[in-house]
Amino acid sequence: MRTCSRFFCILSIVLTLGCDLSGQISERPPCGQDLWEAKLMLSSIQRPRQNESLASQQRSQLIIPVVVHVVWRTWDENITDKLIVAQLEALNRDFNAENQDLGQVPYEFQDRIAKIGISFCLAAKTPTGQPTNGIVRVKTYVEEAGSTDSLFFDSTGGSSAWDTERYLNIWVANTGKYFSGYGTYPGLTPPNTTGVIINPKYFGLNEHSKYGLGRTLVHETGHYFGLKHVWASDPLCEADDEIEDTPKQKNPHFGCPDYPQSSCTESDMFMNFMDYVDDPCMCMFTRGQKEKIWASIETLRPALLNNTVEYYCILSTLNKGFDFTLSPNPATNSLTIRFSEQEGGLKEVQIFDLLGRLRMRISTLVNLIFKLEINDLEPGMYVIKVDGRAQIFIKA
Ligand SMILES: [Zn+2]
Repeated sequence: MRTCSRFFCILSIVLTLGCDLSGQISERPPCGQDLWEAKLMLSSIQRPRQNESLASQQRSQLIIPVVVHVVWRTWDENITDKLIVAQLEALNRDFNAENQDLGQVPYEFQDRIAKIGISFCLAAKTPTGQPTNGIVRVKTYVEEAGSTDSLFFDSTGGSSAWDTERYLNIWVANTGKYFSGYGTYPGLTPPNTTGVIINPKYFGLNEHSKYGLGRTLVHETGHYFGLKHVWASDPLCEADDEIEDTPKQKNPHFGCPDYPQSSCTESDMFMNFMDYVDDPCMCMFTRGQKEKIWASIETLRPALLNNTVEYYCILSTLNKGFDFTLSPNPATNSLTIRFSEQEGGLKEVQIFDLLGRLRMRISTLVNLIFKLEINDLEPGMYVIKVDGRAQIFIKA
């Protein structure tokens, strides 16, 4: 613990200085990657070598089961299931180049845009084979648990990792004011502290103009797969991020810079997910970053390639059209669907489990409120569709 305290102290000073020198304050604090790396240096763990020459034909679509540990102290930190689902959709969107804002990538970088080909789905089974919705909630007494190692253990007020070789563990917990989150580089941490850590304030989708698109997690997950920041903090422009197709860059960019910006010889790729710009202004990974991510998985996280963990995948269309409400949610015996005042008439109600199997179908005449008996469903997460509009509910 002494090492940790010293480490955070050092980093706070560095981060504060960094802001002052650049003359810009980001409303989202930086990710804690530099801090985390400094901590590793203090504990002298060496970065393992990677074999980057493995066959790229294996790199099709990989699905990674995710467990989200919500370690909360105040009620606003106990984020909703819906927010978690929306965040995973955003992660899947950006890791598969399905984001609608790719058009803002300048012409000179357009041919470097990469679809990483990885999707993240909530785990349907725990490491011991028990059914789960992939979300663990722990009320903690630890202040700013996300900035301490107590986060990683049940016994110290946190939530213990699930087999980190087969699951991506995401801890959502208050990280304090100095950083928004971090992702552990492959092969550098003890297994039980491996994953992504993120402050609930920057998790999921919200109305915030700077960090409302779920891209803090995209950035930290990039670190989890071994990506560095696109800048190297080298005034001589000699160091870089070890990715061939990201130009050398001296310092991070903040806000939404005008294009072009140049800090070394080439134009800076500030719209890369691994810079520090606001969410609406970051939108791409490169082909070189894709190579790095897949090489990291193949050499340092190979169990993810031959995974047998069951999972739930959420379709990206689910968030559109929330014009009916469900209560209670979670529900035990019955679920009440309320439509807006203009709604009513003959409705087709379908319930799917998260593997996409139709579990109930009812065609009925409804008048604003409709009550559905769900005793026959086993506990878990479900999708309910009414006339093509979908929502998620939990059967308790
Ligand atoms: Zn970072």
